[in-house]
Amino acid sequence: MQQAIIGYHQDDEGHWVADLRCGHGQHVRHQPPMTSRPWVLTEEGRRAFLGTELNCKKCEEGGDGFDPTGAQS
Ligand SMILES: [Zn+2]
Repeated sequence: MQQAIIGYHQDDEGHWVADLRCGHGQHVRHQPPMTSRPWVLTEEGRRAFLGTELNCKKCEEGGDGFDPTGAQS
């Protein structure tokens, strides 16, 4: 399920977590070469990726009853 990034926070270990429109969070780690997201390391980069859609695994697993057919912004 593709969900747009609406914000960010950091977890207890300092890893960045994207807050998705559906209410779930998803780690956006920068761990090259497996996961290369250099943009997450800077405030400017994170801001640039607001609105970008990530694949929310929690939604695909059935989620918590949130309606995924909500209006696209
Ligand atoms: Zn979700």
